[in-house]
Amino acid sequence: MTKLLSKWFFLVLLLLTSALNAQVLDQQNVKVGICPQDDFTTLRVQSFSGNWKVEFGGASQTREFLAEGEDNSMMLVPKGLVARFSTGKDFNGGYKKIILSGGELLNLEIPDHQPILLQGIIEIAYDETSIRIVNTVTVHQYIVSTLSKIAITNEPEALKALCIMARTRIAWVLANTAHKEEAYNVCDSEHCMEFDGCGFNRELVDILTNMTTNKVLKYHDKLIMPRFHDTCGGKISSAKDIFSVDEPYHQAKPDLLDGKGSENCFHSPGFHWSIELQKVDVLDFLSLSFAGGAERVYTGWEPEKIDSNGRIQTVTIRGRVPKIISGNEFHENLKVYFGPNSIKSMKFTMELLRRTVIFRGMGDGDGVGLCLYGADGLAKKSQKHLDILKFYYPGTDVK
Ligand SMILES: [Zn+2]
Ligand SMILES: [Zn+2]
Repeated sequence: MTKLLSKWFFLVLLLLTSALNAQVLDQQNVKVGICPQDDFTTLRVQSFSGNWKVEFGGASQTREFLAEGEDNSMMLVPKGLVARFSTGKDFNGGYKKIILSGGELLNLEIPDHQPILLQGIIEIAYDETSIRIVNTVTVHQYIVSTLSKIAITNEPEALKALCIMARTRIAWVLANTAHKEEAYNVCDSEHCMEFDGCGFNRELVDILTNMTTNKVLKYHDKLIMPRFHDTCGGKISSAKDIFSVDEPYHQAKPDLLDGKGSENCFHSPGFHWSIELQKVDVLDFLSLSFAGGAERVYTGWEPEKIDSNGRIQTVTIRGRVPKIISGNEFHENLKVYFGPNSIKSMKFTMELLRRTVIFRGMGDGDGVGLCLYGADGLAKKSQKHLDILKFYYPGTDVK
């Protein structure tokens, strides 16, 4: 009898703890830095839905409500933040912080930016040069927003795989944030994961995030930092080759199911690409990007090391003092200079003409980890989400 009782007790305890655990991760808070790289001294918020509580000063000495449809313009002046409501009320105290919470949807307008729709808590503060915004949302809300923005698929099994990937990534970032010095855990760019508020949220992503609640990818019981990219161009590269880091779950392999048929990402617009650039523009790019603007310091460049998949690992920039940099760093700079849709990956060949260079390439992104178009392709080939995750992150388990 006691044996039976203790067995029941153990079962109930197990159920209770797993119920608690199920809540833990997806309900945890994430602090997202909104446009942390940009400097601005004015902004405007409008309540799209709900009554927003506006607290001035941080310790909530002064408060006001922003009703649905009303807006509030804020400005950074020498003494701090000031605000003017569309109702005519002015708050000229020069506050250290302004915190908005309690409403449902807030439209945020930053000069020279598309408006961003936000939920959760919005904290507005400043440093020497600019207003700084931090948006606190739950892990669940974060996954739904970021995936709705980056996922190109409507396949439920591919999306489920992506939910688990994104949750693992945010859990990893929360534990190992690169933004320790900042007031936020994640930035809103590709560096962490692209985040553009909740204006793009898709119902299906929300449902599937709930269906995969709390599930993450582990390698030997340890959380991984899952990498992903738009299109591999038929061949996945290893993290070792591209980033010089030992991540055994990021292996080089063909993006083919059972090693045959057409590539899983063959239907991607980034599978094949080409672009013709002026030679003078390439020389300007080299000097401006790698010599701090000095005129034509570099006379050319060439691939130094190429991995087994044809992806350029390192690059030599020629000049009086030659420079060797990683292909990834070279690519980041190319995207900044020529735009994100110019040279889509470092897997390309070049044809030199008299005045121009034709780049012919495959894939979009760094080619390491999960291929977003490939995951969509695998789901279309009837693969389940666990198969998709095992395919791109070999040796991992979903827990
Ligand atoms: Zn970041
Ligand atoms: Zn692929």
